[in-house]
Amino acid sequence: LNVDDFTIIFAVNQLENLSMKLTILGCNGALPAHGRFPTCQILDLGAEMMMIDCGEGSQIQMQKFAVRSSRVDHVFISHMHGDHYFGLIGWLNTQALMQREKVLHLYCPEILKQIIEIQLLERLSFEIQYHFLLPNEKMVLMDTEKYKVLAFPVDHSIETHGFLFEVKREKRILKKEKVQEYEIPKYYYRNITLGKDYETKDGEIISYEVLSDPPKPNLKYAYCADTAFNENLIPYVTGVDILFHEATYTKENVDKAIARKHSTAEQAALIAQKAGVKQLLIGHYSSKYKTTDAHEAEAKTVFENTIAVYDGFSIEVK
Ligand SMILES: [Zn+2]
Ligand SMILES: [Zn+2]
Repeated sequence: LNVDDFTIIFAVNQLENLSMKLTILGCNGALPAHGRFPTCQILDLGAEMMMIDCGEGSQIQMQKFAVRSSRVDHVFISHMHGDHYFGLIGWLNTQALMQREKVLHLYCPEILKQIIEIQLLERLSFEIQYHFLLPNEKMVLMDTEKYKVLAFPVDHSIETHGFLFEVKREKRILKKEKVQEYEIPKYYYRNITLGKDYETKDGEIISYEVLSDPPKPNLKYAYCADTAFNENLIPYVTGVDILFHEATYTKENVDKAIARKHSTAEQAALIAQKAGVKQLLIGHYSSKYKTTDAHEAEAKTVFENTIAVYDGFSIEVK
């Protein structure tokens, strides 16, 4: 392979295999405490940037962790507890001050529309397109060539949804040696990734299966918002690359978790284990905890691959 061929093959394979980068801007539950902000997460899918919940102070965190949130075109609000949306009004206002013109898609409980309209009396510089989450419903929120987003009901004190983000990887992976060996012209590389055979000048058919490997599995991130321990969630999050499950408490406070429809670290880990996920992230800590080491240690006794996230935490899946 000369350098040029290598670069092109690498580029074609990269292009067809999008990555997913998650950044936690706020990991605390209920209120800001111990330097931890309420819930806000940014999921960067390359071509699209998504925001999941937007607690108070999220804009400060975006600046601190250099998130270019003007790229966000889709915002998902899990439920109407203030620690998940009190930062949204300020962020919308800033977008308008920055002369945003792109449409913003907002996936949220229906009542949020009225709250926004009351608080933002002036017309915004851009349109908000609302997509309401229906109580207790599993819903497909987005389904494009590249992404799919699903909302699913979780078990909390008010109507709450979790979200499953999926990056589709339908394109096959070129085999460097084979495309070289059969002298496939560069312009045809993309067709092979789409599953098309190649025909030589002499009419010989070379199957795409010889020239490429099957697509990598879709990348999946599941966000389980605020929820009690409930095994009904498992089918939605089975086998995901990353699962975020709240762990408001450690297990000595399991009674509080049950009463307030939250989870313990151990319960979050049980869901991860039963669902066979690859990586568990826990967060949404009660402000009664100064540090989160105990949460992580507790979860790891059940599910080793656990990280107790912190504000500014970032993870990438390819
Ligand atoms: Zn919460
Ligand atoms: Zn809540």
